[in-house]
Amino acid sequence: MAMMNPPFSPRVAVIGGGPAGLMAAEVLSQAAIHVDLFDAMPSVGRKFLLAGKGGMNLTHSEALAPFLSRYGTRQAEIEPLLATFGPDALRAWVQGLGIETFVGSSGRVFPTDMKAAPLLRAWLHRLRGSGVNFHVRHRWLGWSEAGELRFASPLGETTETFDAVILALGGASWARLGSNGAWVPILQTRGVDIATLKPSNCGFDVSWSAHFKARYAGQPLKSVMLTFGEFQRQGEFVVSEHGIEGSLIYAASAAIRDTIEANGSAQICLDLAPDKSLQRVITEVAHPRGSRSWSSHLQSRAGITGVKAGLLREVLGKDDYANPQRLAAAIKSLPLTLIAPRPIDEAISSAGGVRFEAMDSNLMLNALPGVFCAGEMLDWEAPTGGYLLTACFASGYVAGAGALAWLVGQKSGLIAPSAE
Ligand SMILES: Cc1cc2nc3c(=O)[nH]c(=O)nc-3n(C[C@H](O)[C@H](O)[C@H](O)COP(=O)(O)OP(=O)(O)OC[C@H]3O[C@@H](n4cnc5c(N)ncnc54)[C@H](O)[C@@H]3O)c2cc1C
Repeated sequence: MAMMNPPFSPRVAVIGGGPAGLMAAEVLSQAAIHVDLFDAMPSVGRKFLLAGKGGMNLTHSEALAPFLSRYGTRQAEIEPLLATFGPDALRAWVQGLGIETFVGSSGRVFPTDMKAAPLLRAWLHRLRGSGVNFHVRHRWLGWSEAGELRFASPLGETTETFDAVILALGGASWARLGSNGAWVPILQTRGVDIATLKPSNCGFDVSWSAHFKARYAGQPLKSVMLTFGEFQRQGEFVVSEHGIEGSLIYAASAAIRDTIEANGSAQICLDLAPDKSLQRVITEVAHPRGSRSWSSHLQSRAGITGVKAGLLREVLGKDDYANPQRLAAAIKSLPLTLIAPRPIDEAISSAGGVRFEAMDSNLMLNALPGVFCAGEMLDWEAPTGGYLLTACFASGYVAGAGALAWLVGQKSGLIAPSAE
């Protein structure tokens, strides 16, 4: 009598309900795989919702080559992920949820209403409809000696076994939204190679005088040119109690962070009047001042006011501030010493994480067959501009598809489900 293959309906655990984990759950559930999604928080997608607060920047419309260059030294590893689910696929997928997108003047891509909440709501509705079981307030603690997944839940510690596991646990910034990097030692003890988590897209500490920070903390420096090594860009940043932060600083933050790590500090150069030439600034500053104070002279001749004037005074000291040649040179090229990155919890994102060398091309851990990783917990970083979410979605998609292929390969009796 011919032996029948036993029925096989694999169960997959997705741990982490950010964009990467939700995308992995989507790929699997649409292939009729039973998915249980666990998250430590009372609801999923909290960082995704926060990212939507200032305008949900989903991806960027630039050509693939410059897009890929944003991933720096990890460009080669991110490329195949984006080849599978890149910026165009992401926009089409968002549209499939009933959300239109548009390209802003900077080339960044946003949902038409700029919000994350309607998108997340529609997505969760679809995931539930395709059978994904959500288990919130379930913090993954690692594996038991018998190889079961361990969770701290409102009912105490529970254990469960699955046919495959996707870890999408995020980085270590904004821990109050759920991602705290507690997975690092759990994976390290299982032989997974992990690059130290570091702040990315972060602010930096500056040794401000008490007077300067009391007077100027919270004030924006609008339209300055920042130069640091090969980085040169015009933009804005904010003086904070501890130092500086904001989009222009975040854009240069990876190189600044690495320099501080190597040398103990980093010196950036600021052009406070980027729309005027040095010669013009010299002429304006050298113009007879008459009885006017230096600050009103600077304001009327060079357009330097408020926090810009305060910064010049802070960095130059009294004598150089009153020296027209040195003052003009400083307006066009003001050195500012940064002494430390702000703590990782304050950063927009994390650098470091599970090294690509520790995984196969499907993002399955070499040390733990059947366990896949996705999202910000992988060792890549990118500036803001939609590049972070794009790589999280893409890696979630690849990990989900990888788990599906692995399950199919594991069980010869399993018929590959339709991906429709
Ligand atoms: C203020 C801010 C603004 C941002 N704006 C943008 C933007 O406009 N565009 C952009 O591209 N990116 C933006 N980002 C970055 C983007 O939100 C993140 O890169 C992205 O959310 C990471 O997705 P992820 O799925 O890898 O991890 P997360 O979104 O961090 O999700 C991980 C999930 O895992 C859960 N988890 C962690 N540990 C455990 C555990 N042990 N057990 C169970 N669950 C666990 C967490 O609760 C969380 O729900 C922004 C980030 C911040 C902080």
